Formats: sequence, structure tokens, C-alpha cells
Amino acid sequence: MAHAHVLGLPRIGAQRELKFALESFWRGEADATALQATGRALRQANWQWQREAGLDWVTVGDFHWYDQVLTTLAHVGGLPARFGADPKTLSLTDYFGAARGTAGQPAMEMTKWFDTNYHYLVPEYTPSTAFGEGVEWLFDEVDEACAAGFNVKPVLVGPLTLLFLGKETAGLADRLTLLPALLTQYERLLARLKAQGVAWVQIDEPIFALDLPASWAEAFAPAYARLASVAPQLLLATYFGDVSAHAARLASLPVAGVHVDGVRAPEQLAILAKTWPSDKVLSAGVVDGRNVWRCDLQRALALLQPLYETLGERLWVASSCSLMHCPVDLAGETRVDEDLRAWLAFAVQKLGEVAVLRRALVDGVACVQAAFDADALAQGARRTSARIHNPLVKRKCDALTQADARRASAYPERAAAQQAWLKLPPLPTTTIGSFPQTAGIRAARAAFKRRELSHLHYLEAMREQIRLAIEKQEAYGLDVLVHGEAERNDMVEYFGELLWGYAITENGWVQSYGSRCVKPPVIYGDVYLPEPMTVTWSAYAQSLTKKPVKGMLTGPVTMLQWAFVRDDQPRAVTALQIALALRDEVAALEKAGIRVIQIDEPALREGLPLRRGDWQTYLDWAVQAFRVASSGVADDTQIHTHMCYAEFHDILPSIAALDADVVSIETTRSNMALLDAFETFEYPNEIGPGVYDIHSPRVPSQDEMTGLIEAALTRIPSGRLWVNPDCGLKTRDWAQVDAALENMVAATHVVRRRLVSRAA
Ligand code: GLN
Ligand code: ZN
Repeated sequence: MAHAHVLGLPRIGAQRELKFALESFWRGEADATALQATGRALRQANWQWQREAGLDWVTVGDFHWYDQVLTTLAHVGGLPARFGADPKTLSLTDYFGAARGTAGQPAMEMTKWFDTNYHYLVPEYTPSTAFGEGVEWLFDEVDEACAAGFNVKPVLVGPLTLLFLGKETAGLADRLTLLPALLTQYERLLARLKAQGVAWVQIDEPIFALDLPASWAEAFAPAYARLASVAPQLLLATYFGDVSAHAARLASLPVAGVHVDGVRAPEQLAILAKTWPSDKVLSAGVVDGRNVWRCDLQRALALLQPLYETLGERLWVASSCSLMHCPVDLAGETRVDEDLRAWLAFAVQKLGEVAVLRRALVDGVACVQAAFDADALAQGARRTSARIHNPLVKRKCDALTQADARRASAYPERAAAQQAWLKLPPLPTTTIGSFPQTAGIRAARAAFKRRELSHLHYLEAMREQIRLAIEKQEAYGLDVLVHGEAERNDMVEYFGELLWGYAITENGWVQSYGSRCVKPPVIYGDVYLPEPMTVTWSAYAQSLTKKPVKGMLTGPVTMLQWAFVRDDQPRAVTALQIALALRDEVAALEKAGIRVIQIDEPALREGLPLRRGDWQTYLDWAVQAFRVASSGVADDTQIHTHMCYAEFHDILPSIAALDADVVSIETTRSNMALLDAFETFEYPNEIGPGVYDIHSPRVPSQDEMTGLIEAALTRIPSGRLWVNPDCGLKTRDWAQVDAALENMVAATHVVRRRLVSRAA
């Protein structure tokens, strides 16, 4: 029979149980036994949900204490040797040491898992990397599930993906040369699973969705030939993109089945099915694992039916990817209103959708008519809802012209107009926006939310923080001040709460890395700004000082990227709607006398599609959205933007195309490596490469920052260089911020004096 399964579930727990258990273990408040008990309970709950939904398998091996890549390394004895742990007796403490750092060793590097907001730990491959035996966790979990009577399908990150996602260090030339040794360990793992009585193993090779170099693509067939000879039946899982370019390769791989993503790339299903070999399963991922929308059952069934006619029971029904990228259970959601709830499905609900689709396919829709009827009602209500479609927004979008995405004058004229009133010294100093989010601020916000603090008292508490921030910035001697963002719980959620078309969930948490979870807002309708969101805070701050106060907004691409987005219109359209709302906010700030305005776009780089061929289209609409948000101002209003968390070398032309007057950009973690790019690409406007790594409690010395400013001056002319930290200061404490910013201003003064004497 056609099977129904999912590629994995979230492991954080419906109430973020894993987060709390991990953090109390790390604090030494709970022991390993307590942590293990939480893990067991979470796994059992996930398996139970899958069985109750009517899936054929429960996925085992999707539970990870910190990260799936790290756990896979632990299985093949591949943790970086620098941690000195014995792979065979690796303890949880050793495992967490690699993830979080130890007294003697910095943590493994972290980077984004494909185009998700999940971060994995980057394997480190050296010439002496020797794989070997590792932990027994997967086998234990298989036993655990079997003992509880579940039908198990273990999942493993595949060997090619494990190698590809790592980095070569200590002079290793090509990590692909490690493949034979790694395969020996996968053979051991798979043979062991087979001995445990496992029939199918899901082996994830998502790198098929990337621009895969030929040497890597060609490595698959021989590698899987080795594995197939000892393994249970293998389901090779791809996701996050179109893999139809590899259709012939996938069809001839010595595996028993292949999974493809039918949400990101539905067209590939028919292409693959057409020539699919008669001895292979094709698993079609038609329930979206990356978003929160209820599956349109009718549409999904229409996609599956022709495949079923061709493939019969060789067609499996599945989620598009692991469900770890969506929140756990809608049942725990109290903040979203009833209408909107009816349009949503979190992981637990998606299990039911997969099962219903399989039944409709195999036994006919009549068997699951109630589910289809309920879904049709919800889909119809959503399509026609007045909450989604705002004619005013549509009119504004239609009325946009190219001129709306262009400042009135070019940068040199604007710069002169701005300097005429700003009268900034050379190398102006500023910060990125937030100041410490102290326990006091968080307590006031929580009390306000619980209605224990009146609105008036809350406002006054925030104003007091603004007064403190302004006073301190004047004392440091900064040139362009900020209000400090005390009132913001989060740079996206704060705006999401105030914009129409956005909904905030109470419990829609998704793992970001380790114990860290994020709660992306849901964009469900046309985005509209009913009234200004930041003007009173910024205007209050400006009333306290003669120095210019910089208004602070989150840009359209970041507001999109860090949310669950609509699936009923292109991302580009949603971005444009957000841009129009922000354009109104920018105008309101300007009118209120805030004439330096920063629009943060830290997520611009991470929005890039997985395949390079798709980059330009994305960059074009992303840049357009930023420009629509920022171009409605007078020449003498100064627009800033800010970027962090990424390398920017390959998108510098697009950053320049934003045409912000000033960009501040993270650079200290890469030791100002970004500056090398300016040898070949001259950034045309003003730029502030960060000179203070705010991710660390360490306070950089004045000399250190003097050195960094001087380094920046070798690439950027003094007339266009700003001095600022790498990012916002909300995670630091005031003592660190006081010391670091005093040093930063002092360092700037030293370099300014040198500039004068050099000119003389
Ligand atoms: N203005 C924001 C802050 O300072 C920017 C945060 C970010 O770039 N992630 O906190
Ligand atoms: Zn930042």
C-alpha cells in the first residue's frame, strides 16, 4: 500500500520542554538523568502523534540534543579532534562542549541550514580526520520505539551531505577524499540497523537542491552502491528545491526510493514519475514543512492522483521536508483568533493531513469526506476573507511608479544637503539601535502584558530608559544618537504587532539552534500601516537632545524573511506591501523632525535562493522593496541601513543598489575581511564597518579599535567612513557598553587627530 510518512518532527516539544531541560542541565540545576527523561518523553509524544494520525512509520533519529549534523558526527566518530573527547564514550557533556565551546576550545562554527532559519554546526575536516565508532544513541532510540510497539523508520543525514556541509581546515585540500572512510562508518550504522530489524532507513541528501559540483554528483552512485549492499531499504530524501535536473541520476541510484519536495517544486513530481523505474518508491512531499498554512487537500490530491495512476503503491505521501521548521501544535495556540486558526496547521495537524491524503488516494475521497469538506470551507473562507484583501493596499501597489523607488537626487548632492545641517565631524560615530535589554525592561514589559502595570506606567518606564540612553550617548560623545529600542521585544514581532496583515502567535516556536527558539509572526493578509509605529518614541528621544536622533525601522526583506509568509501570492508582492507600509512610517518620522532614519536589513543576504541562477531575480525585488520604503524622503534626510550575520562579498553591488546614504555592516568577526572586497568594488556611499564585536562580552581596547579604523581607511576614504559597533547592543550589559563605546569614541578622536596632522 502507498505509505504515509513525514521526514521528521520538531524536537523542542509543544511547550519548548527541550529548551528548558537543556538550559537547566547546562546551569547544573538538573542532572543527565532528568535530561534523558525529558528526551524520552518528547520522543514518545512525537511517535504517539504519528501513530494516532495514521502514518505507517514513526520517524526515529529526528530527535537531537542540539543539532542533527552534530549528532551524525557523533555517530561516525567525527567530532573535531580538538575537543579531545573519546568518540566511543562520548558523553552528553562532550557533545555540548563541541556545540557551545569548552574552557579550552571555542565552539564549532554555526551556519544556516540551507535557506531555513535553523543553524547547524559546521563539521571540521582536516587531513587527520579519521572516522570511527561513535555513540549508540540511534540504536537505543530504535530499541526504545520498537519496545513501545512503533513501526520505525530511522533517519540519518547522508554521507555526501555530511561532508559537503563541512569545512576543510588545517590544509585539507578536498573533503570528498574522506568519503571512503566515512562510508565505512555508514556501512556499520546501516548494517546495525538492519540487524535491529529495521526495514527502511530515510537518508537525507538535501544537497541535491544546491548547485552541486559534478564531482559531488558523480560520487553518489558508487557511494550508495557500497551502502545498499549492507543496508535496509534506503529512501534517499531530497528537499528544499527542484532536483529534476538529476532525474536520471536519482532513478538509477541503487536505493529503494527517493523523496522529493512537491511544495517548493511541484512540477518535478510529474517529470520524475514519467520515467520512474518500476522497482523504486517515489515519496512525494506535498504537505508544506516550511510554513504554517493548512494544506489545500483538493489541490494536493490533484497533484497526487496522476502520480498514483502511474506509480500505484510505489507512491508514498509525505511532508515536503522535516516538520522541524514549523511550530509543534496548534492546539496550544491561544493568541491567534478563531478565523485565522482555521487556516493554519502546525506539525501535529500536518501529520493528519498526510494521512488523510493517503486515504483519499487509496480508498477514495468519500472515506475522508468530512476532512475534505472542512478543508474546502476553510480554504474558501481564506480565499475570500476581507481580512486578507485590502483594496487600499492593492491600489497603492498599482499606483507605484519607478520614480517612487528613486531618491530625488543622486548621493553626492544628497550628502551635501545632509551635511549642511548635520555638520558631522569626519568619521562620525553612531550605534546600530538597541541598548541593553535589562532585566528591568523585560520585567516591565511582562508586567504590562499581564496587566499588572498600567499603560501609563509602562510608557513612563520606557521613557526613563530613553532618557538614560540619551544621557549616556551624550556623555560618550557620540555624534548620531538612537533612542535605544527599549520598547521592542523583537525587531520583527514589535512591528508585526502594529501592522495589519500580521498575526502574532503565543506559542508558535521554531528551533533556531540548540535551545534557542524563535517565534516568527504570520503574515496572512495585505500589509497595511494603520498609524505610525515609532514616531512618539523617536520624537521623545529627539526632544531630549540637540544631537540628531536616528529613527529605527526593520526593513521589508527582514520583515518578510523572519516571518511565516503568505503562500497565496509571491514573496515579492508581500515585500512590496511591507515596503509601502514602511514608506508611510518613514514619511511620518520625517514630518516629526526625525531626519536620520535607519532601515535594518540583516536578513537581506540570507534570503538568497539556493541556486545561483535564481539570485538576481530575488535581489532585484529585494532591492526594489528597500528603495520603495526609503525613497520618499527629502534629499537632506539621511537614510541608513544595517546588515549583519553574513558574508557580503558576493552581493556588494546589490547593497550599493539600495542607495542608502549610509550602511553599517558587521565586520569584526571576520577581522574586516570584507574590506578586501573594496579593492575591486568601490562602495559609492558612506559606510561604517563595525569596529566592536557585540557578540562577545569582551570590551575591545581603544588601540584595537584605532587599528580597525585605520585598516578601514586603507580602503574607504575618510569622507565616507563612519565608526560604529557591528550590531545592536541589546544582549550586552551597561558596564560593557559604557566601556566599549567610550573606547570607540576615544579611538575615533585619535584617528581624527591623525587625519588632521596628515593633511597638514
Ligand atoms: N536595530 C537593531 C538593533 O540594534 C538591529 C538588530 C540586527 O541587526 N539584528 O538591535
Ligand atoms: Zn545587526
